[in-house]
Amino acid sequence: MDLLARIDHWGTVAPDRPAHISEGRTLTYGELRAQSDALASWLSEKLGDNRAPIAVIGHKENEMLVAFLGAVKSGRPYVPIDLSIPPQRAERIVQNAGAALTLTPAAVREALAAPRATAKPKPVTGEDPYYIIFTSGSTGEPKGVVITLNCLTTFVIWTLGEQKFPELDETFLNQAPFSFDLSVMDLYSSLASGGTLFSITKEAIANPKVLYQAFTNSSITTWVSTPSFAQMCLVEKTFGPAMLPQIRRFWFCGETLANETAAQLLDRFPDAEVWNTYGPTEATVATTSMRVDRKVIAEHAPLPVGYEMPGTRIVIMDEKRASVPEGERGEIVIIGPNVSPGYLGRADLTEKAFFATDGTRAYRTGDWGRMRGGLVFFEGRMDGQIKLHGYRIEIGDIESHLRNLPQISDAVVLVVEKNGKPDSLAGFVVLRERGAGSDFEISLQFKKQLAERLPAYMVPRKFWFLEAFPMTANGKADRRKLAELLK
Ligand code: AMP
Repeated sequence: MDLLARIDHWGTVAPDRPAHISEGRTLTYGELRAQSDALASWLSEKLGDNRAPIAVIGHKENEMLVAFLGAVKSGRPYVPIDLSIPPQRAERIVQNAGAALTLTPAAVREALAAPRATAKPKPVTGEDPYYIIFTSGSTGEPKGVVITLNCLTTFVIWTLGEQKFPELDETFLNQAPFSFDLSVMDLYSSLASGGTLFSITKEAIANPKVLYQAFTNSSITTWVSTPSFAQMCLVEKTFGPAMLPQIRRFWFCGETLANETAAQLLDRFPDAEVWNTYGPTEATVATTSMRVDRKVIAEHAPLPVGYEMPGTRIVIMDEKRASVPEGERGEIVIIGPNVSPGYLGRADLTEKAFFATDGTRAYRTGDWGRMRGGLVFFEGRMDGQIKLHGYRIEIGDIESHLRNLPQISDAVVLVVEKNGKPDSLAGFVVLRERGAGSDFEISLQFKKQLAERLPAYMVPRKFWFLEAFPMTANGKADRRKLAELLK
């Protein structure tokens, strides 16, 4: 499949069909094609042979899609940076990416208003990087996962084949920020099938009245979100077929889908299917999937994450990289053409997590899992990476930012659970010097300082102040003892 040609094709056969609807603004396939072509020429003229990535900073504006496609049509990968990422961290990402240029929606409009460039752009091909998504890194430095056109095409061929989306007929919910690779699932399934991408903004998500009104006006047929987001919507009694009369499927990825969430959705939406998919950003969004019907819910608790996508292999390995027998626990390793070539400019991190086997790329996920009857079961993380409301966070990332604050000498961050699910973060800190101000005031100050450096979802909700941390036998902060303080 020639992904870019396929997306452009809709601009020829259905130029008036909406490609993207966001905040009441519509971008048609005709406009997307014309504008991304024009932007690609503009970029080629401006940057010449410099094929460094294009950073794209914004939220859910129509121009984001124009910028993404404009970049790749000009032969450069894009780095999506959502507005939830504070400027300081965004700046680090732009630097680490070695970006040739940063585009914002306003900059895209400006470029399109400039006299038409005549340069003939050369789009990305095959093994060229297509996008680079930065995820939380355990040392406080975000790491850029390089996804090639081949990786993305492999993924899209799979989703179109498995879900059999009718052409020019679907409307996809886009809930995840474009800097989270879950959004790739709706964005490219939509663009490749001539669908309409229906975005909801962070402002709408924070305001239930606006959110449910948006759904009512949406004509969504395919719901893509984290299970947490659907769980939040299920609290609303009117969240049902009257609100989403055309819904065909709920398509989840990114974190554990609870049996209860799947069952509630099937009760509320008897005509819709529920799908669970699993995978890390490093292997292009998702590598396993399955439909979760009532039989599956009755047979499995917790739910499996599905079967491997054709053309890829999931192998459960022990620490010596030997595959373990069926049914035994080990690390989930993904082998296939959807696996990233590695982290941008970080050969050290790439070497730790990636390897090649029989000439095919492989990625050690750091996830515990096991296989039974071809089904993959996810059993938690082997390290300090967590998922909070769908967001991937390295606990070490937050801790290192806390330790860098001048008032703090040491810090530990723990996850606070509610009803058995991660709910918020707690920060434990040892202060260098107890200054003036109550615990509450000092906490507020830390939250403010952290919010300048990290997205809001990485800022602990509550802080505990200690003289010193309890220690384990080998002299590390005793996280178990600290967790007892939360009870
Ligand atoms: P991300 O790179 O943000 O997509 O996060 C990838 C990680 O999320 C995986 O390595 C898993 O730890 C977790 N994850 C993704 N999908 C699922 C799922 N369906 N069930 C449980 N955990 C998941």
